[in-house]
Amino acid sequence: MEREELNRVQSERLIETVERAYFNVPYYRQKMQEKGLGPESIRSINDLGKLPYTTKQDLRDNYPFGLFAVPMSEIVRIHASSGTTGKPTVVGYTRTDISTWSEVMARTLTCAGAGRNDFIQVAYGYGLFTGGLGLHYGGEKIGASVIPISGGNTLRQIQLMHDFGSTILACTPSYALYLAEAIEESGINREEFRLKAGVFGAEPWTENMRREIEEKLKIKAIDIYGLSEVIGPGVASECMVQRGLHINEDHFYPEIIDPVTLEVLPEGSTGELVFTTLTKEGLPLIRYRTRDLTRLNRERCNCGRTLVRMDKCLGRSDDMLIIRGVNLFPSQVETLLLEMSEIKPHYLLIVDRVNNLDTLELKVEVDEEFFLDKISQLEALRQKIQDNLESSIGLGIKVTLVEPKMIERSEGKSKRVIDKRKF
Ligand SMILES: [Zn+2]
Repeated sequence: MEREELNRVQSERLIETVERAYFNVPYYRQKMQEKGLGPESIRSINDLGKLPYTTKQDLRDNYPFGLFAVPMSEIVRIHASSGTTGKPTVVGYTRTDISTWSEVMARTLTCAGAGRNDFIQVAYGYGLFTGGLGLHYGGEKIGASVIPISGGNTLRQIQLMHDFGSTILACTPSYALYLAEAIEESGINREEFRLKAGVFGAEPWTENMRREIEEKLKIKAIDIYGLSEVIGPGVASECMVQRGLHINEDHFYPEIIDPVTLEVLPEGSTGELVFTTLTKEGLPLIRYRTRDLTRLNRERCNCGRTLVRMDKCLGRSDDMLIIRGVNLFPSQVETLLLEMSEIKPHYLLIVDRVNNLDTLELKVEVDEEFFLDKISQLEALRQKIQDNLESSIGLGIKVTLVEPKMIERSEGKSKRVIDKRKF
């Protein structure tokens, strides 16, 4: 669909969504009234900026069903995300929502080259988590043979993948890598498998990981993106060109905002991704802040799809630092470090303020093998990291290399940033 026609569809659907939310969800009605808005205030997609944002906290405050826009008799499915803090986030689907979900998942699988002759091994978990059932319905919609094996039980995964001739694998990227290594250890010849592509998501992963999966499994590894609040998987997917993920923007309208000022950023800027659902009935979401960081690209893709593309997610907006007025995400640093084989992804960013000027220092561990090399080589490596970082983040940074295992490890998530500034 060309952009002009797409904008017309988006406008029509936004008007319907806002009406549905305003008349059926007291929360939205109140938030709009506080801003002096009624449904008539929204005439096209260009009016979207007038509307208030919605956050995960709003979903929690209205736990479990407070933001649903239809009576429970219309809800045919409930999913929930396991809340690491507090209550889970609950989402509800009408029959039409399930059909929309199947449609966007069918697009996702088609993007990965799947069709009716494929065998799709769904190794995402089935249950309250949306991964398993999302891929399942999409697979059936395109007429493929779906194998609902769910997660875990690696030996069985390999056996069925081999015996059934699975051609598409759907799971998290880390599990794909684990499976790849288990297949190598199994001693079964790769030629005996028919696997050709994988659709991987639900966790962040790097280009390095992609290369490793593609080499080890000898497949095309496709990045998929979604979140249960918006619909589950099926929000966006890479195509075979692998240059960004096409957003199903006729169903989920994306904006990029500055997470601090909340202003919509100009085309091509990196910032927080915000979605407005355009067709959802059960749980319409208006300007939902995902906290995921990315950038949009409206250039036409070589695959022929006209849908806008988003970059692989860079990280979370909650982690953002402001240094000398520049927004910096620790994940930007991490992504760069992960691309270099000489160093370990163990690092520490130290932010300080000296003479009223913010300073930024990076300590990073060198790989054991590389650390034995000459001092001059280490200095060259240090300079290379510093140059790479400065040119990509646009900030001066002092890089220090440290011996392996010098940076403190902690249980679970390690501490990556120390901010010594006093505000
Ligand atoms: Zn494309």
